Amino acid sequence: MPQRPPADIGMPVSEIDTPALVIDLDALERNIAKLAEVSRRTGVRLRPHTKTHKSPIIALKQIEAGAIGQCCQKVGEAEVLVAGGVRDVLVSNQVVGDRKLARLAALAQSARVALCVDAPEHIEAAGRAAREYGVELGALVEIDVGTARCGVEPGEAAVKLAQQIAATPGLRFGGLQAYHGTAQHLATWDERKAAIELAVAKTKLTVDALAAVGLSCDIVGGAGTGTFQFESTSGVYNELQCGSYLFMDTDYARIGGKTSNRYDEFEHSLFVLATVMSVPTADRAICDAGLKAYTMEKGAPWVHGRDDLEVTGVSDEHGKVRTTGAKTPLKLGDKLWLIPGHCDPTINLHDWYVGVRKGRVEAVWPIAARGASQ
Ligand code: PLP
Ligand code: MN
Repeated sequence: MPQRPPADIGMPVSEIDTPALVIDLDALERNIAKLAEVSRRTGVRLRPHTKTHKSPIIALKQIEAGAIGQCCQKVGEAEVLVAGGVRDVLVSNQVVGDRKLARLAALAQSARVALCVDAPEHIEAAGRAAREYGVELGALVEIDVGTARCGVEPGEAAVKLAQQIAATPGLRFGGLQAYHGTAQHLATWDERKAAIELAVAKTKLTVDALAAVGLSCDIVGGAGTGTFQFESTSGVYNELQCGSYLFMDTDYARIGGKTSNRYDEFEHSLFVLATVMSVPTADRAICDAGLKAYTMEKGAPWVHGRDDLEVTGVSDEHGKVRTTGAKTPLKLGDKLWLIPGHCDPTINLHDWYVGVRKGRVEAVWPIAARGASQ
């Protein structure tokens, strides 16, 4: 059962219980609007990724701003989206197992649903599930455009699968999934640009090979927060799947931008709010947010607005803060606004978002797809 929310609507920010996952709503809205504007300007559709926010409330805000639907990684996320009112969902991932496929087919009774495949067995199993439920499932062929994760080789291998989909009752050939994951965090703008140029070439040759056998791609999807500038102007991709742009994290802030060594395309809008719970020595303070409030695989969180403080170690429920040389010493009860290293898995640790504006709590939203990993 979810815990009770860490705040009530209307209360001052100073009264939020910690650790809490806090959204700066003004910054969030600016991030949403900025990518929606890119989509409008380029004519490339926006289908943001639920894996980041895990909340139909946020999905509907993105859709209200111009997104056409959502993509997600898991059937469980798709279920939460459809229950929350999202009508067009792409599972940007392979789905293996009859139980999962049955759940997905059941969803297709009330929404437009698609999934990705990269093997004949995926197609056979998805077709069976769709026919059993009397629905149509979209199926996109995933191609490997450089990440070496899932996906068949661009070109002929993809055409073969697409033809199999087109010949399978219950399935609709939905296009190509061509996401380049490892390009997202390449250190410089130019490296990311070069990686996506290669991905675009591989995707284009596949689109052309499909056209040559009479198959057209409704969706040519890919792009994340680190590379959407290139896919959106490629003339080949027609959908963007960015997720982290909503919130940003230190992992994205650290890569280079077009003109600066910080990637400042979007604003930090997500924070783990923590309280100083102990000040044992002059050079050390301990806060109440540790590994159970943010993940560490991309490094320790930054302390927002306090370059003079550094998180130097964490345990389950403690964050160790070095205060040597701090401009203002920390004292018991002080609040720290921590910027997580990696937003998506950090969000998955929390039950609630607390949305704040002008010093007050304006919204408390459940993270409804938290833990929906099946
Ligand atoms: N699309 C797919 C298939 C992904 O796996 C991811 C993230 O891993 C994204 C889009 C979104 O990427 P980001 O959060 O970097 O914008
Ligand atoms: Mn991520």
